[in-house]
Amino acid sequence: MSIEPTPMKQPPRQLLTKSHCDPDDVALKSFFLGPQSENADWLEEILRSVLTAYFSWRRRTHAGDGQAISRADQNHPAFRRRRREFIAATQRLLSRFEGEVPKFSPRYIAHMFSETSMPAIVGHVITLLHNPNNISGESSRVGVAIESEAIRELASMLGIDETTARGHFTSGGTVANFEAMVRARRRMERWLTVGARARNTGDLRWSLFEAAHMGWSDHDELLEALDIDSSALESLSTNPFEVAAQLGSIFEAAYRGPVILVPDHKHYSWVKGAELLGLGREAFWSVQLDERGVLCVDDLRRRIDEARDKNRPIMMVVSVAGTTELGAFDPVDEVQFLLDRLQRQQNVHIYHHVDAAYGGFFAASACRDDRSCELDDGVCRALAAIRRTNSVTLDPHKLGYVPYASGAFISTDSREYFASSVDAPYIAFDSDRDRGPQTIEGSRSAAGAVATWLTARTIGLDTAGYGRILRRTVRARKRLQKTLKKINAPVRIAPTSSNILTFCVARDGESLSATNERTQMLYETFSPERDGAFFVSRTSLRFSDYGPMLQPFVSSWNGDTDADELTLIRLCIMNPFIDSRETETDFIAEFCLAVQQACS
Ligand SMILES: *Cc1c(COP(=O)(O)O)cnc(C)c1O
Repeated sequence: MSIEPTPMKQPPRQLLTKSHCDPDDVALKSFFLGPQSENADWLEEILRSVLTAYFSWRRRTHAGDGQAISRADQNHPAFRRRRREFIAATQRLLSRFEGEVPKFSPRYIAHMFSETSMPAIVGHVITLLHNPNNISGESSRVGVAIESEAIRELASMLGIDETTARGHFTSGGTVANFEAMVRARRRMERWLTVGARARNTGDLRWSLFEAAHMGWSDHDELLEALDIDSSALESLSTNPFEVAAQLGSIFEAAYRGPVILVPDHKHYSWVKGAELLGLGREAFWSVQLDERGVLCVDDLRRRIDEARDKNRPIMMVVSVAGTTELGAFDPVDEVQFLLDRLQRQQNVHIYHHVDAAYGGFFAASACRDDRSCELDDGVCRALAAIRRTNSVTLDPHKLGYVPYASGAFISTDSREYFASSVDAPYIAFDSDRDRGPQTIEGSRSAAGAVATWLTARTIGLDTAGYGRILRRTVRARKRLQKTLKKINAPVRIAPTSSNILTFCVARDGESLSATNERTQMLYETFSPERDGAFFVSRTSLRFSDYGPMLQPFVSSWNGDTDADELTLIRLCIMNPFIDSRETETDFIAEFCLAVQQACS
């Protein structure tokens, strides 16, 4: 298939020469349809060649079989009637979708999605036509190979060693987080089992906590020393209650199950996961946030000590790169540093997963060497540390500009990726190639992976491609922040570090409930029901979670704390054209004006 762009219809002469943008930014405009479908000709042409190539492939495959649908069939009145009905239904559907959220518009600054890239759309359409099921190579010859390549692209964006990285695409960040929980639990259970066997022989006096964090090298040594076949080790028993009783008697202390340490700003997928795994709410130990609204490392240290004192194995520690509420980055590097030290000094190996569903793609723009990075040093350090952790969640369907559903889970160590595996007798699995035995989901479309692959190979997951696009969104957030501060209303902007901006409008000394009411009014002004000029979202931060950040923030306007939470307008500045200098509208200025008008 060849897709040669035909020259665009000749634009007026002055437009050819006059461009307000940097040539590198201009080049990136070829990857998006544009708010007014500016690149429609170009997209139509690619899609037409996609269809042509696909038709031709079908015709060449078993060409001698002959045709099943004749011209006469196609002209038959019954055929034609059905076709008319089909067209009519499609038209009704199209007009219903006119009511859909216009996610492509630079006026959409609400949730974590915006425009989808053209390579991603094209990748999706191609996959849709071929419909591969990435459960195994038996049902997806090309799809599974592309998926592995796409995982390698994402791993390399994060600086993860491609030779040890293993992963797969999921329906989103939620399932990717579940994938991490399953593996972390499996690893802990494995070590605990080996530890229990060793203790049973009498030569090892490890506590249950020590056994559960022994690390792979002690695990391997013990296996050899005890001469146990690892297949005999799958579990102590198959009944979790009996396992608990056995562990209790072997380690001479009641076993109360593992805990997971998750910061207070957690995405609700972690709560779902804990419920799904039957860990029980009590196993969810939250780690406090600091004055920046990110994981407090001192509190994490306290929680680890507490777990050790109570003999509760730590199934995993989670840190978040790009929180759902504020787009803030936990100090992934400091967390890993603490865990590395525990490992070195006390032989305690704790699993560390980074939920980078939102923020992971900033790795493409983070500074490695360069000066134009728009991110804070702390953010760059957090991103650079992901490669040293155990696993990571990414959501290409957020900052990857890929359509739903596209999430990814990556283990930095293939051994831990393969920790959990279930066979299906009717599928021929190739253990190296196929992900089916390891994935929580069964049938999986290859579309999310292919879309990510094509964007990686065209736009590029580096500073010249995605990096450039995302840096621009951070610059746009900074400009919006500056402009908002200048309007004739007391705008209060919460600490922020990426392209998410949260704010409220609060008069000096007023009560929090009055501020929250005004924020609610602002939110309603922009609500889709009112057909507002912009789409925004809203979030509420509780003092019980965000206290250290909220107290100084609210004090900065002498707010009277008569409520237990602060409601904020939340903007995800993701649209690649929000600060376009070509459009008639200055979206940022117009938005700020709309806020001012609503507040006056
Ligand atoms: C969006 C998000 C998730 C969940 O991802 P889905 O794709 O919606 O399932 C998990 N964690 C964080 C930090 C997120 O931002």
